[in-house]
Amino acid sequence: MAPSRKFRSMKEIMRVAKRVAEPDSSDDDDDHLVCQQCGEGNRAEELLLCDKCERGYHMLCLRPILTRLPIGPWCCPACSGDVNRPIKSFKGFARKKLAEFFKIEHNVFFSRKCTPSLQDVKRRRRRGTLVFQKKRRRLFPYVPSEDPARRLAQMRSLALALTSDNMEFSNDLNYRPGMAPREANQSRFEIGGMQVLSKEDTETLKYCRAMSKRGEFPPLKVTFDLYEGYTVEVDGPIKDMTIIAEYAGDVDYIKNREKDDCDSMMTLLLTNDSSKNLIVCADKLGNISRFVSGINNHTVEGRRKQNTKCVRYSVDDACVVLLIATRDIAKGERLYYDYNGYEHEYPTHNFV
Ligand SMILES: [Zn+2]
Ligand SMILES: [Zn+2]
Repeated sequence: MAPSRKFRSMKEIMRVAKRVAEPDSSDDDDDHLVCQQCGEGNRAEELLLCDKCERGYHMLCLRPILTRLPIGPWCCPACSGDVNRPIKSFKGFARKKLAEFFKIEHNVFFSRKCTPSLQDVKRRRRRGTLVFQKKRRRLFPYVPSEDPARRLAQMRSLALALTSDNMEFSNDLNYRPGMAPREANQSRFEIGGMQVLSKEDTETLKYCRAMSKRGEFPPLKVTFDLYEGYTVEVDGPIKDMTIIAEYAGDVDYIKNREKDDCDSMMTLLLTNDSSKNLIVCADKLGNISRFVSGINNHTVEGRRKQNTKCVRYSVDDACVVLLIATRDIAKGERLYYDYNGYEHEYPTHNFV
């Protein structure tokens, strides 16, 4: 699983191609171009030009780093005034405001955790039936932090990150007028078919959805890293095979987003007819999944840091994208999935 292709505009491609083709040409103005950050003119293919001041910046010299070429006009930090994102106080969000932000009922939000465990739910339902289960790896629901204060802090961090990106919270796939309609998202359209989430795992997913509605979120917080930008930190242990989150946002046709510079687009459906391919865009609406990093997949030793994968499943005949833990993850670790799930389209190995 990988996010959708990040389309470059023709202008960008030409701009880069020119520099790659003639890195040493002395009668080219670009030859005098150096990075404003490191002062070097090397790695020309990574040197971005500001559309306002025409100065250059290496993608890796920016903070946070840029993992791909921007589509369309790009302004350097000096010109955009966005030197670093302001780190506001998380305490700015009062509980009531937070409950509104996450669309959680107030009284539920204040109460201690009271959702019965999934095991209890299943036990109740299964009583009296003896079912021989074949051995298969099942998904687990995430386990929210017990401490309400901790949960509050986690939600504040998410609310802060979303609002500073001018986004609103949503845990769902949204269908809006002018974008792809709900009928467009049918898993049977997927080339080669899509794996169906088992009945048991669907139950687990629905249990997670119910928890989220009550304000019982996965034990995660969003942190801002000068180098990587927003990242997601694990705030309590997460077991292997846990459903961490469901990728949320607006569902749209890929063709509508070819010129879009949204940095969090996730493939949802790939059909025989490319004009019907769908993506999830977490640019206006979204949840914690849009802050999970796909960079830094590898450590210096070459071993993968990846601890999460994005998997597409058919649930009630529609496609969903789930973030699933690929191993036990300890408190304090950051979540990483691989942008290059199988497409190997982004050179993320550069970002070690
Ligand atoms: Zn540089
Ligand atoms: Zn500039």
